[in-house]
Amino acid sequence: MHTRLVLTAKAILTQHRSKPVIDGFVLVGGNRILQVGERRDLQFLPSVRLLDLGDTVLLPGLINAHCHLDFTSLKGRVPHRGNFREWLTAMAGRTRRTTAAEFKKSIQAGVRESLAYGTTTLCDISTSYESYGILKRQTLLRAKVFFECLDFGKQSAFAAWKRALERIRHHTALPPHPSTLQWGLALHSPFTVSPEFFYLTGRLLDRHRRIPTTLHLGESREEWEYFAHRRGPVENRMKQLGITWPKPDARTPIKFVARRGWLPKLDLAVHCNTVDAKDMELLARHRVAVVHCPGSHDYFDHPKFRYEEMRRKRIRVCLGTDSLASNRSLSMFREMRLFRKNHPSVSASETLSLATNRAAQALGMGKDIGQVRPGYLADIIGVPAPARGFKDTEALSDWVLRHKGEVSFSMVNGETRLRLAGSRMNR
Ligand SMILES: [Zn+2]
Repeated sequence: MHTRLVLTAKAILTQHRSKPVIDGFVLVGGNRILQVGERRDLQFLPSVRLLDLGDTVLLPGLINAHCHLDFTSLKGRVPHRGNFREWLTAMAGRTRRTTAAEFKKSIQAGVRESLAYGTTTLCDISTSYESYGILKRQTLLRAKVFFECLDFGKQSAFAAWKRALERIRHHTALPPHPSTLQWGLALHSPFTVSPEFFYLTGRLLDRHRRIPTTLHLGESREEWEYFAHRRGPVENRMKQLGITWPKPDARTPIKFVARRGWLPKLDLAVHCNTVDAKDMELLARHRVAVVHCPGSHDYFDHPKFRYEEMRRKRIRVCLGTDSLASNRSLSMFREMRLFRKNHPSVSASETLSLATNRAAQALGMGKDIGQVRPGYLADIIGVPAPARGFKDTEALSDWVLRHKGEVSFSMVNGETRLRLAGSRMNR
């Protein structure tokens, strides 16, 4: 039988009740939340351990919907000099020179930093394919590992896809397959993947519809220029490398992907900074969720992210950090603060939802994570509580968003990962 644990805290932001639970408790059994309520209603049962977290606000663990753990060690090492395409080339060069051991070290550092800053679920775009094995052995975080593939600069789309499939099979074949880990497919971008490669990957997805998918889409001005005018740095680089793909048959990256039949297969479109009204209608119609990465967005000075219009069109939006090659931190608190700075009309509680309950829905996990609620998986974090003003959801969300540094408590899948030294444990 699983051990049951009661967490008590000054306040709980459940992300489904209209008000915080004050002086509350969460009963956890195995990897699930069994009960949430006020401490005065708690009936102690034998064989239940109690962890009193004191002056803490508990909330759902944060969801980082886009990250590249491979590149954690590249923080501050790949400067952006105003040309996104050149930055990508520099990254590709770095990737080629990095050994598997270096990638593993970088991934471990990224996992530690993510946990410390309150992330409990992470979508990792894996270029090295090494994170799957690490997250399988450690199960420290809940994760979706998207194996990245592209055929830019390769002789044959078919050979590139065959090689990617072999590597995916190699990394995912051996059991055990922990329930905290899932793998998916990441195509790099509509300008680094040929139409033929889209077709080949699409055929696999037609047969295996439950494989999650993601794609960098509409990220930069250079990408937009390539599709809108068939010119610019992307086009020049293709000429340099002797790439003879057909000219794009659509004027925007999203319409191009729609023509490849890929929008119904796509779960997470990452960035979407250069979208027009028709693009947003396509995303909404095909229920593609959008991942916005505020820190990386500021780093590259991309065009303004059109959150308010996406919300009106009922596009599900969530947040991600992207990699440390284009960001300063893997803290989702910082991402939420940056988001609010650029979208001051959005409330604190709505901003928090973009890394909790709404992010869970965007990932197709809305019935399992993103809320502190009976029946949900026990992914819970804690931050120090304010002295007052914790009875109102908006004020408390605002306080939570201001949190800097490590969290004081973290639980993933019912297992305590971090705990403030001052908290008291009974039994
Ligand atoms: Zn990315």
